[in-house]
Amino acid sequence: MTARRRTKIVATLGPATSSQEQIEAMILAGLDVARLNFSHGSAADHRERVRLVRELSARHDRHVAIMGDLQGPKIRIARFVDGNVTLRAGDPFTLSICHPIDAGTATIVGIEYPPLVRDCAPGDELLLDDGRVILRVESVDEIAVHTVVMVGGPLSNNKGINRRGGGISAPSLTEKDHQDIRLAAELELDYVAVSFPRSGADIEQARQLVRAAGSPAWIIAKIERAEAVANDAALDDLIRVSDGVMVARGDLGVEIGDARLAGIQKRIIQHARTLNKLVITATQMMESMISSPIPTRAEVSDVANAVLDYTDAVMLSAESASGQYPVEAVQAMARICLGAEQEPTSLKSHHRLGETFTRCDETIALASMYAANHFPGIKAIISLTESGHTPLIMSRIRSGVPIYCYTPHVATQRRAALFRGVYTVSFDAAGLPPAEVSNAAIDILRQQGLLQPGDWIILTKGDRYSNSGGTNGLKILRVD
Ligand code: PGA
Ligand code: MN
Repeated sequence: MTARRRTKIVATLGPATSSQEQIEAMILAGLDVARLNFSHGSAADHRERVRLVRELSARHDRHVAIMGDLQGPKIRIARFVDGNVTLRAGDPFTLSICHPIDAGTATIVGIEYPPLVRDCAPGDELLLDDGRVILRVESVDEIAVHTVVMVGGPLSNNKGINRRGGGISAPSLTEKDHQDIRLAAELELDYVAVSFPRSGADIEQARQLVRAAGSPAWIIAKIERAEAVANDAALDDLIRVSDGVMVARGDLGVEIGDARLAGIQKRIIQHARTLNKLVITATQMMESMISSPIPTRAEVSDVANAVLDYTDAVMLSAESASGQYPVEAVQAMARICLGAEQEPTSLKSHHRLGETFTRCDETIALASMYAANHFPGIKAIISLTESGHTPLIMSRIRSGVPIYCYTPHVATQRRAALFRGVYTVSFDAAGLPPAEVSNAAIDILRQQGLLQPGDWIILTKGDRYSNSGGTNGLKILRVD
């Protein structure tokens, strides 16, 4: 039997991927999580995409999660008289909080974020448009930041501003984010990603708003500020209060510089897994596929390396939202993930051998993986679960054994689409006589040809099925 892909694929839906045909093709190509980017598009656009993803994934019997990504407090320049200008190295350029917002020129542009003048100091470097244009601050007064262009080029309306080294003080959730959280609740999204969180407190606040809006969505912290990776304590503070993190390499690379990015990506992935959290590796993974049907060798290596680092998921942004080859990009990612997963380091684990566990369900989950990785007869792990927490912890461990998340809850079925090596089976154990549960669970996989007589499986469950966090049993069973 050929191995099934374990690393999951997140793809952003946008103008290039909004029709029924395109979304269906993405699902068939292997889409696991659809990302809605709330920085672009109207509520009506997002509503329609959600409707299509839900309808088409059900039609093809696939569990596809949906993640809403909040815009966050990205600081942006205002607009130019002609929509864009070209800046030349060495020329002066001013960012002013008093300049009319649609009257920018090649020497001055408005800005709608007054604290910028407080946050900047002479000598700072400001990076515009993801670092394509670089300005050095010469002086600051009450209404403006005066700079000299270091790296020039075209600059168009509403481009983002970052400061090298981070430290621009915008709070994490804007009025638009509050509205989008309500939209996420209305659309029953499975994940909400929070942009530019500074610390765990920003995530706690987002989680409260999401819950107050009536949504059980899991919260993903985007790691994209220099402060968030300044030291391990700051990083772990953010990871601990989140359900997962995104290595948001676009903004993070601008803030910390590209040279540190690869090392920090590895550190974020490792910390997230050790703390039992999900991790998505994002941005520019297949950038050339915006306009080319095949990826470069460097892009292939980038995706493969994230897989070897044991990321849960790899992500497409512009490639799928507005590129010419969105379906090919998903297909390429799927192929590369599968290839990298054949490496022995993807199959064996040295994780946590010297550690203690803190919870019963965690102990069962990790004991299952130890057993599965050391008993070659084991061909599947079946976790009867309410919230998905037990398969989540299991999937933190490197293994080649598939983990099946058996649950009656639609929200859990979709959520598990993001967990590496986890596949969902719709199953209501509480509806069966206790003595028949194990056989019924095994039969489903046997009927799909995923188990043969003589194979062994591990099955985990709690004494009561309606009890989240209650997993306390591990059985090893032989398929007959
Ligand atoms: P964005 O976040 O695409 O919303 O900017 C991801 C990143 O910064 O890499
Ligand atoms: Mn970003």
